[in-house]
Amino acid sequence: MREKLQRFMTGRYGADQLARAISLAALVCIVISMLGARSPFFAFFYWIGVALMIFGCYRMFSRNTSKRYEENRKFLELRYRAVARGASRRNLAKKRWAERKTHRYFKCPGCSQTVRVPRGKGKICISCPKCHTEFVKRS
Ligand SMILES: [Zn+2]
Repeated sequence: MREKLQRFMTGRYGADQLARAISLAALVCIVISMLGARSPFFAFFYWIGVALMIFGCYRMFSRNTSKRYEENRKFLELRYRAVARGASRRNLAKKRWAERKTHRYFKCPGCSQTVRVPRGKGKICISCPKCHTEFVKRS
């Protein structure tokens, strides 16, 4: 049986990180769909879960390994970027919290860049360091 399986899998792609993510997403969708069995909204999740599962199997048994490898590489890159973005957002939130008594943060109306200004200077004209839009705020 094991040998048969091995022979079947030779030349096929197999599981990777993307496969694991897909099966997890499929599982989540199917669990969500079970929460409200009779509503069409939850049935929708069920079919998404099934579609994901089929897609995951298709990838695992695929013989086009270079294409699958490339998909996985893109997925890892996206995941890495999402994690890095989350970390930098958390760091910024921490910094803002630590400086809440000495500085205020405003969003530039021109380019929505966050601008930091010292607190307690009254009404000031802020010039955005990125796009040089000027706007007046109470610090
Ligand atoms: Zn700006």
